[in-house]
Amino acid sequence: AIALRTWRNTPALWQAHYPHPAALGHKYNRGHVLVLGGAVLTGAARMSAQAAQRIGAGLVTLAAPVQSHAIYAQNLQSCMVQAIEDETGFERLLADVRRNVCVIGPGAGVALATRQAVLDSLRAGKSAVLDADALTVFQDTPPQLFEALSQGRGDAILTPHEGEFARLFTMHGDKLRRASAAARQAQAVVILKGADTVIAAPDGRLAINGDAPPWLATGGTGDVLAGMAAGLLAQGMPAFEAACAAVWQHGQAARRAGAGMVADDLLPALAGVLREQAQQPVW
Ligand code: AMP
Ligand code: MG
Repeated sequence: AIALRTWRNTPALWQAHYPHPAALGHKYNRGHVLVLGGAVLTGAARMSAQAAQRIGAGLVTLAAPVQSHAIYAQNLQSCMVQAIEDETGFERLLADVRRNVCVIGPGAGVALATRQAVLDSLRAGKSAVLDADALTVFQDTPPQLFEALSQGRGDAILTPHEGEFARLFTMHGDKLRRASAAARQAQAVVILKGADTVIAAPDGRLAINGDAPPWLATGGTGDVLAGMAAGLLAQGMPAFEAACAAVWQHGQAARRAGAGMVADDLLPALAGVLREQAQQPVW
């Protein structure tokens, strides 16, 4: 058994690794996030892409199925929208080495194409945030996902809620132990979401985030979180710290947006959290 080390998720846990914009930085050294768009539900991947932009990724590309390309193009101006023209279209987008992190899952659909996108991106050596449908598509064959993750060269963060978690993992017991055992099995950082969110690393590190406001429990907020985690990974933050920072800032953005917020409101609220952060070198 490995030693579990548990902290409360506060900025002290990760601020030394936070990728503050450098005075002489440019967009090509602030990471490039590739988000897989859905064919039917378009809001989820759109918000993931916008969250990655807000949190400081240098560039964000949304890979859009042809059916929904026009919707994404119309709703995302500061993000690059690229059509996936055929079955190898997503793989071709992966070929650009500057695209260092993928977000797969939000609104992606429980379909073979989603599964293939996960396997292709891990095989291409990308770091990845896998959420929602990207987890559900492996419910009948979790070992295939774990195998692909263990062979991947990048960092991976899985962001299941309890339902998605139960489709992939068989652990029982308290949330901390389950998240930690899952992180070890998947060899990935696991963000097990809920009223209390637990962040677990394969090496036994654990953080508990208990102060997100209850009005965060509304459609689309998880998609924003996935994009935030990806945006931090893309800027070079280590996976456990990136996951903890994303969860904490997500809660802060929700607090700032206030009761009555919808997921879209988290995006400008996140900018507010970051502005405050920039004014105070230590939170
Ligand atoms: P998802 O389940 O993917 O829609 O994501 C929902 C988001 O809302 C996650 O970040 C959860 O941690 C958060 N969340 C869900 N329920 C609550 C709650 N009762 N209080 C605070 N945050 C919550
Ligand atoms: Mg979700």
